[in-house]
Amino acid sequence: MKTAFLAVALFALCFAAPANAQVFSADIAEIRTVSATIPGARALRINVVKFAESRRTKNFSVKGAPAEPSVQARTAFQVVYPDGTVMIDSGMDQQVHRFFGRGVEEPYFPEAAKEVEKALLAAKSIVMTHEHGDHVAGVVRGPLAAQLAPKAVLTRTQVQTLLTNPQMPEIKLNPEMAKRYIVVDYEKYLPFAPGFTLIKSPGHTPGSQMIYVVLQSGKEYLFAGDVAWHMDGVRTIRGKDAPWITEDEPAMTADHRDQPR
Ligand SMILES: [Zn+2]
Repeated sequence: MKTAFLAVALFALCFAAPANAQVFSADIAEIRTVSATIPGARALRINVVKFAESRRTKNFSVKGAPAEPSVQARTAFQVVYPDGTVMIDSGMDQQVHRFFGRGVEEPYFPEAAKEVEKALLAAKSIVMTHEHGDHVAGVVRGPLAAQLAPKAVLTRTQVQTLLTNPQMPEIKLNPEMAKRYIVVDYEKYLPFAPGFTLIKSPGHTPGSQMIYVVLQSGKEYLFAGDVAWHMDGVRTIRGKDAPWITEDEPAMTADHRDQPR
């Protein structure tokens, strides 16, 4: 899993490309430099929990792929530092999960969802890859939201989407709720913790960001969020074919390997 994940990272960093309106670029050398700007020990390891699945045929996740069975894992990640943890994404409750099934009952793992809750409660901070329900619901709704919000870091764009154009009514914020979060805004990269950098990457949603983490071991990860739903989308630089989502596909799939950087 780690190898595959790193591969996602490298592909995304190399091939992330300019959109028409908003030029996107990311440079791994710059990201490494930014990631070294916060003093302190880097993370020791990363844990992952899969708390739900969507079973959609592969053609939805990768344009042009055959309509064969495919699983989309719904996950949250725990970055473990010597003196505390940072969560990447916050999971969702079963009601939000049902939204994604669009009428079909899909697998939800309550025990794993409990693990996510425990990890959120224990975390020093929580950051989001993007503002979709399966990533933010854990800090936006439910009995723990008020307790978790003061250590949840949302970008200004993520908050704006949740206020004005949420993916589903269940995760809509009102201005009073929005004040509970730590809200950040940045141009391109934001160093967040030792070896941990946020990378602005609008496309899948306006508030999407990728997250780079380098461990003490030197192993590097990139949390690409929903830039792709299947590794083949990254390998072949092909977008999704899911009519129920609206995203800036050119920003996410343009391949400028041959262009001067
Ligand atoms: Zn998403």
